[in-house]
Amino acid sequence: MFPTTDDSGTVIDCLLGEARRLGVQLYTRQPVSQINRDDRGFTVAVKGSAGWWCDRLLLATGSSPVGYRLAQALGHRIVPPVPSLFTFNISDPALRELAGVSVDPVTLTLPLEDGKPLQQTGPLLMTHWGLSGPAVLKLSAYGAIGLHHQRYQASLTINWLPQLTQEQVRQRLLDLKQDQGKRLIISFPPFPLPRRLWHYLIQHRAGLAADLTWASLSKPQLQSLVTELTRGAYAITGKGVFKDEFVTCGGVQLREVDFKTMASRICPGLYLAGEILDIDGITGGFNFQNAWTTGWLAGRAMAGVELGSKTLRHPVKLRILPGIGEVANGIDLRGGPADGIHLRFNGGAVVGGLAPNSGNGGHDQRRRVGWSHG
Ligand SMILES: Cc1cc2nc3c(=O)[nH]c(=O)nc-3n(C[C@H](O)[C@H](O)[C@H](O)COP(=O)(O)OP(=O)(O)OC[C@H]3O[C@@H](n4cnc5c(N)ncnc54)[C@H](O)[C@@H]3O)c2cc1C
Repeated sequence: MFPTTDDSGTVIDCLLGEARRLGVQLYTRQPVSQINRDDRGFTVAVKGSAGWWCDRLLLATGSSPVGYRLAQALGHRIVPPVPSLFTFNISDPALRELAGVSVDPVTLTLPLEDGKPLQQTGPLLMTHWGLSGPAVLKLSAYGAIGLHHQRYQASLTINWLPQLTQEQVRQRLLDLKQDQGKRLIISFPPFPLPRRLWHYLIQHRAGLAADLTWASLSKPQLQSLVTELTRGAYAITGKGVFKDEFVTCGGVQLREVDFKTMASRICPGLYLAGEILDIDGITGGFNFQNAWTTGWLAGRAMAGVELGSKTLRHPVKLRILPGIGEVANGIDLRGGPADGIHLRFNGGAVVGGLAPNSGNGGHDQRRRVGWSHG
């Protein structure tokens, strides 16, 4: 999902602007290390500052291990988090030499020990480490837990010609054997596949010589070519490059959260939104949607706005602990961009941010912003 400007900064600026308009205070470089709850509210310990107290708190710390620990300390159970939306390592140097070549569509089939084989049809991209592209990312999402249990060792089947049946592929090859007997197989690809891929499938996968003609293609050789074109087996030997996963599968158990308000069913006054929850989506903007929708629901509920109504039911009490200074109706901005953000607005407090890591792996400090929804 990309803004028309094709610049993820636009998403950040749009949300920052809204936060400013609503008088949200943004505190950065202050990671929350501990949260204690008593019957009046929450005392939030912040590294490098005295911390603060609030009577309503939204945890939106994404897939940060500290965030899970904070939620656990407040009574929540965490479904063990595993990476999701990642690419596949295939340790085949000849395949890796095809980096940048893409095919659309292919059908990928992934049998896993924990269930029925998973299948995805869509675009595939060869990379310097193996395979990527929407079909692989979606398969990794559906197979996130199974692949994790198998330590990312699995056998992937690729059908490069999903628009044809195996019999149609066989018949096409037999026709060529008949009609184009004198022609070299390598230089006469009968299917709309990239030439470099055709060479790779012929020589490297089917093991056919470069000077083999269609007429001299033997029955076993024809069979191995049909197999390589329609159900070639590729060993997944790992999950893409370090930390290339987009999201985390796992998190706070969903039945412990009221999805009308995102309020915790375990800890009164606590709200949860975004990727900290056991929700992960496939590619296509679903993970942002999860963060923004649950954040919106939580923000409105914290501000006491009934779904569909515009009025604030009850103003919220907020007190900053000594040493940080009093906040009147939320105008107080401190600190620069850094790890660990929390913010306050006259609707409570939020630890984390809602989808600040807009698509670049969150490494660019400028992109770490936080806000909440009133
Ligand atoms: C490379 C990449 C590309 C992506 N592309 C897409 C895409 O195209 N479409 C899509 O839908 N999704 C995409 N995602 C996923 C999407 O970014 C996340 O699902 C979304 O950002 C989750 O939002 P969130 O607010 O729950 O958590 P996050 O965006 O992870 O924000 C959590 C915030 O909490 C802060 N935090 C953590 N711990 C603490 C603490 N102890 N104290 C204070 N602050 C803390 C963090 O610093 C962070 O700023 C992508 C992710 C990556 C990594």
